[in-house]
Amino acid sequence: MNIATSEKLYQKSLHCFPGGVNSPVRAFRSVGGTPIFIEKGDGCTLWDVDGNAYIDFCCSWGPLILGHNNSVIRDSITKTIQNGLSFGAPTQLENELAELIISNNRFVEKIRFVSSGTEAVMSAIRLARGFTQKNKIIKFDGCYHGHSDSLLVKAGSGLATFGTSSSAGVPETFANETIVVSLNHREAIEHVFKHHHHEIAAVIIEPIPANNGLLLQDESYLTLLRELCTDYNALLIFDEVISGFRIGFEGASAYYNIQPDIVTYGKIIGGGMPVGAYGGSREIMSFISPDGPVYQAGTLSGNPVSMSAGIAQLKECLKPGFYTDLERKTNLFITAIKDNLQNVELETLNLKFFSIGSIFWFAFTELNSIKRADEIDANSMKIFNKMYHKLLKRGVYLGPSGYEVGFISAAHDDATLLKAASIFANCLSEVFTESKMEKAL
Ligand SMILES: *Cc1c(COP(=O)(O)O)cnc(C)c1O
Repeated sequence: MNIATSEKLYQKSLHCFPGGVNSPVRAFRSVGGTPIFIEKGDGCTLWDVDGNAYIDFCCSWGPLILGHNNSVIRDSITKTIQNGLSFGAPTQLENELAELIISNNRFVEKIRFVSSGTEAVMSAIRLARGFTQKNKIIKFDGCYHGHSDSLLVKAGSGLATFGTSSSAGVPETFANETIVVSLNHREAIEHVFKHHHHEIAAVIIEPIPANNGLLLQDESYLTLLRELCTDYNALLIFDEVISGFRIGFEGASAYYNIQPDIVTYGKIIGGGMPVGAYGGSREIMSFISPDGPVYQAGTLSGNPVSMSAGIAQLKECLKPGFYTDLERKTNLFITAIKDNLQNVELETLNLKFFSIGSIFWFAFTELNSIKRADEIDANSMKIFNKMYHKLLKRGVYLGPSGYEVGFISAAHDDATLLKAASIFANCLSEVFTESKMEKAL
């Protein structure tokens, strides 16, 4: 595979940006090697600047549920930009996207558009604190909520601890306002509520944690969170930036049939443009300025280009059978990979697939289910990294880290998925043979 142009561009970008990138995971530090510079995408295919084609399972980290360069979205944006790009004043397009969401979603009555998932979550936390007049929030080890200060916090040792900042520049005093708890652990969360009940403003969770592997939770655990929040007058925030409009139009809230107090969205609602949103009941949302005391604003919030991309994409998602077909494709893909492998290979590699809707993740593990971050075997990432480069050479593109999930879009047709599955299986067979040889040495 020739990646000479990518290598050249990367050398240049290293002069411009820290690590040569504008978001860290793109630098390939986890898998090693040179990041691939992308020229264009169409459907489920990506082309790099050297002309190599890849079947894409990263899909811009989730937003592209219709695939790349979707003609409906493109037409919609093209029409919109004839009238200018941004006005900093209300437009009809904002109403249209909001109505599309609210009228098809039982879980939010009012929303506010922002420009990223991070911003949506940051605002949701502020709203929860303003509404409850309490300060502490509970987050879970293994959930990602963007890069705002309160949430760049990691667990100390133990099942429930005051957070320590996971980034330089986040004061420990901020981190101390966040309590970090292990996922799917009833006693840990009950313990925290018992000891801090008068201080907890909110519990924030990815109801389908998909930023650190795919850590599917027991439904009863999510129900427990709902009950605890209600009992202790804390708000339950579902961060549905990934799962919203991905696991069905109403996201994980509908999948588990749990009413959160605040929901955050991002990724899919922008159709590939920068959009985030947070929403909740009329009562809670009335705390946002200018109606209420919680300040939140944005120069480019609700800008027409993003709105029209979101409208076009969500209308497609609402078509009958959209989500069932995505799930069918995901199962087809995973089943085909397994069918292409011998039992001895699957068993020796300890390869496990986890999926929900059109999100999938695979891990090399002896465990049959992984629900907590500390159950992921960091050592197994060596095997992932080998796999990663084999796949890339044969034209399959995944997010460059074994902790990242993959996405199937509506543009992934069955034939391409079967082709990708056979490439996957061939790469896995190679990894199997190599590890057998290494053991023999
Ligand atoms: C991607 C993501 C975010 C952050 O969104 P950005 O648009 O990258 O700021 C927050 N929460 C979850 C669950 C996400 O998946």
